[in-house]
Amino acid sequence: MNFHLSAEEEQLRQSVAAFVQTELIPLEPEFAYAPDIFEGSRWKSRVKSSSDPEVRRYLEIMEGLEKKAEAMGLWHLDIPKAYGGMAVSNVAMIAVTEELEKSAIPFEFGNHVSNILFNCQGEQIDKYLWPCIRGEKTSAFGLSEPASGADPSMMQTTATPDGDYFEINGTKMFPTFADVADFVQLFARLPGTKGREGVTCFLIDTGAPGYRVVRSIATIAGTEPCELVFEDCRVHKSAVLGEVGNGWALNQAWLGARRFQVGIRAHGMAQRVLGAVAQVLRQDSKEAEKYLGTIGHFLGELEALKALTYSASWRADQKMDVRVDAAKVKLFGTELAHKVIDFALEAVGPSALRKDHVIARAFRHARARRIIEGPSEVQRHIIQRELFRQGTALLELQ
Ligand SMILES: Cc1cc2nc3c(=O)[nH]c(=O)nc-3n(C[C@H](O)[C@H](O)[C@H](O)COP(=O)(O)OP(=O)(O)OC[C@H]3O[C@@H](n4cnc5c(N)ncnc54)[C@H](O)[C@@H]3O)c2cc1C
Repeated sequence: MNFHLSAEEEQLRQSVAAFVQTELIPLEPEFAYAPDIFEGSRWKSRVKSSSDPEVRRYLEIMEGLEKKAEAMGLWHLDIPKAYGGMAVSNVAMIAVTEELEKSAIPFEFGNHVSNILFNCQGEQIDKYLWPCIRGEKTSAFGLSEPASGADPSMMQTTATPDGDYFEINGTKMFPTFADVADFVQLFARLPGTKGREGVTCFLIDTGAPGYRVVRSIATIAGTEPCELVFEDCRVHKSAVLGEVGNGWALNQAWLGARRFQVGIRAHGMAQRVLGAVAQVLRQDSKEAEKYLGTIGHFLGELEALKALTYSASWRADQKMDVRVDAAKVKLFGTELAHKVIDFALEAVGPSALRKDHVIARAFRHARARRIIEGPSEVQRHIIQRELFRQGTALLELQ
């Protein structure tokens, strides 16, 4: 196993690290007062429809940063070469994300393109995939439901075939920005199926007849998930992403990729927070003594998390099955970051509770990340299942 960065990848990591230090971190004091929407990295969906001058001002700053990154060749890193991207390895992408997360600015090196959209076929490519790559369209992801969040195999939304069409009925809970994105990647099951069977993914334009946003919910993580209802929403069979019935594999591919990212983001964020703690403790050596052991312990755990994440990414690059690795990375990353940040709040004291403080911001995000994309309990469940795979279906979760 060799998950060292190649010379080219190391160069990329260094360029990203320099960009973060010189372009992003100096903007942090200004972004501390940015509209809430700039807390999360998915701000593009919301800002499109906003005429708020303050939002437009921050948007201009972000667009300026994007131009600089593009000019440095730091753009569309994880997009396949066939679509004009750099197609960097999973290991390199993890290194990039680790650097990026050292800043609180919600910046990404490329427009966000959901990984499952590379399954687009025919007209879907021009209608959805290319516009997402160019940054003209954004997507939402509709999987969770009121009675099936942690376990999506309990999904109840149905897609009933009717000639060349499907009729969608059901409620989705928490698709982020389903009110303002251009389309949703919607998961529904064929009638009479259960568990992982019959799950199908559809690309449905926001506001199509029968697509009703009940409410959008502002969260501490800076994103706005929605409650979204489908009432006799008729979609043509050409809206199916991939094949009818292969939606389970698609939602797992999406969740797996996100869990890797969440894990390494937790690593970057925790490192940054420990840096902030060290800055404060340097001024008071007596106070510092109380905390040195704990800091040493966390640094060791962070190194272990890093090794786990890089080795799992290397396995992904070798096209191995990494579903359990993704669960481990997400579980250990988010739980550890939460512990580190909770400690940092204690060590730095009340000044770190200020809403605009880097530690307070990290705390909000770290707590949410232990739930989003599958809560910790479910990740533990996925990991333990491996041990019992040969025996009875103990604690089986679909
Ligand atoms: C800010 C935010 C954004 C989100 N964005 C999206 C999105 O874009 N698209 C989307 O589809 N979903 C989205 N979600 C939904 C998210 O993925 C779910 O909230 C999450 O998977 C948990 O599902 P749930 O809320 O229904 O909790 P439940 O399934 O009701 O579980 C509640 C709690 O019960 C416990 N639990 C559940 N199952 C088990 C088990 N088997 N063993 C032990 N304990 C268990 C866990 O502690 C869990 O947190 C978002 C959620 C939030 C908060």
